[in-house]
Parts: sequence; structure tokens; C-alpha cells
Amino acid sequence: MSIAENIDLVKSHLPAQVQLIAVSKTKPVEMLMEAYNQGQRAFGENKVQEMTAKYEAMPKDIEWHFIGHLQTNKIKYMASFVHLIHGVDSFKLLKAINTEARKASRVISCLLQFHIAEEETKFGLSWEEAKEMLQSDEFAELENVRICGVMGMATFTDDETQIRKEFASLKHHFDRLKTAYFSGNAAFKDISMGMSGDYLLAIEEGSTMVRIGSTIFGERQYY
Ligand SMILES: *Cc1c(COP(=O)(O)O)cnc(C)c1O
Repeated sequence: MSIAENIDLVKSHLPAQVQLIAVSKTKPVEMLMEAYNQGQRAFGENKVQEMTAKYEAMPKDIEWHFIGHLQTNKIKYMASFVHLIHGVDSFKLLKAINTEARKASRVISCLLQFHIAEEETKFGLSWEEAKEMLQSDEFAELENVRICGVMGMATFTDDETQIRKEFASLKHHFDRLKTAYFSGNAAFKDISMGMSGDYLLAIEEGSTMVRIGSTIFGERQYY
């Protein structure tokens, strides 16, 4: 199947309120352009340098989503154009994004990443850490970041019950945050969860954004 056909197939499974982020990390611009020509405008990357190179090479009506683990010293390279940073996993990182966004005269949209998986290796905030951050005076002073919701990754397992439980816990965090800190804030609306292997479950558990790579572009090769 072609990239265009893969996109159409994935989209046929998505309810209208769920946005598709085409995860194009490691893939060449020619492949991204096939997706672009099929109407895809949101792309996800996990390396700042790679995303910046693709941004420069591609049409300017693309939304670039940063979905990787972000180091503070790399923010400046994408501050002028990034559409949404999915993986905000510390207060320190959010403050650094705010600083770079201010220099770029922008307000950068961000999602708070929560640790929902069993694996220790997956990054993310705990509920307590998020609460402490959102209640702080320092947070209230950040004018160049906009918190648009939450993001999480489930454990890599075949156990559907467990994956569902983890996605449900992210939805629960979202609902609690909405009630406690973002009620009446229309920007706080997104739950980024679901990848190639688990996006149908994620949608059933309330996802509004799925991040899909290999189902669209094929398996990735790392060297
Ligand atoms: C690579 C990646 C994806 C896409 O993974 P696939 O299994 O190829 O769909 C989604 N989210 C994050 C954070 C990723 O790093």
C-alpha cells in the first residue's frame, strides 16, 4: 500500500474530533511530501535538528508537532515555528520553553506528559508534580506558554486490559486538571494518546490526537 492509501485507511478509523499526527521521524522529505499531497498537514518529529531541516525544506502550512524528549538547550532552534510540544515532563522544561517563546515573540502550545506506563524508561510527570507546578505562583507568571492538554504513552505490551487502564488513567488526569485548573479555558482540550499499535484503544478511552508513524510510513530503520 502507498503512503496515501495508508493515510486514508487510518483516517477512515478516526472519529471527526480526533486529529491525526503523522509521525515522520527518520523518514525522508519525499515520503513526507507524499503524505502532504494527500492532504496531511500535521507531522510529528522527535529530534529538533531533523524537524528543523524538514521545516525548512517543506511547505509552510504544515503544523510541526514535537513529540520527543526535549532538552532545554534545543528549544531555541524550533521556537519560531513549532506548533505543539507534546512532551513537557518537568517544570524546568516548561520555564525554558517560556523563555525561548518570549524571545521569539510567541506563545507556544504545550501538552503535559504524564507517566502512565509501567516501564520506568518512559518520561512524564506524576500527578503530584503536575499539581505542585500548576498551583505555583511561578507558573501563573508564564505568559508565553499555553497548556493545551495532556500526553502519554502506554506500556509496550500485548495486554489490552493494561493498555486500556493506562489510557483511562491519562483521561482521568485530564478530567481532574480540567476541573481544578482549566475550567473555562477552551484551549485546554487535547489528550494526545495512541500510536500505530494501540490507537483504536486510545480513541475508545478518549484520545483527541493520535500519533501514528509506522502504519503510515512503514517500519523505521535505526542505524
Ligand atoms: C515514534 C513515536 C510514535 C509513533 O510510533 P508508531 O508505533 O510508529 O506509530 C508516537 N509517539 C511517540 C512519542 C513516538 O516517539
